[in-house]
Amino acid sequence: MVGLIGIAVIVLIVIFAIFYGYGLILKQERSSNPFNLKVKCTLCGRFFDKENLVERAIGIEKLYYFCGDCIKSLYTEHLNKKQN
Ligand SMILES: [Zn+2]
Repeated sequence: MVGLIGIAVIVLIVIFAIFYGYGLILKQERSSNPFNLKVKCTLCGRFFDKENLVERAIGIEKLYYFCGDCIKSLYTEHLNKKQN
């Protein structure tokens, strides 16, 4: 009987360990996913959600991202140059 209880305890510990490990993996995926979506603006270097940035491919491999503030400042600069 003691042997059976011992085996049952070991099985329970193994099941608990599997679920605990699985939970850790899920937690890591959850915490790493939002970070993966953050993309650095090429001009100001701040991180934004990818959907908020304008993406431009220059050449074959180079991808550049621009945030709204940088685009606005570029546009303002462009307008100022036109007036001069
Ligand atoms: Zn920017």
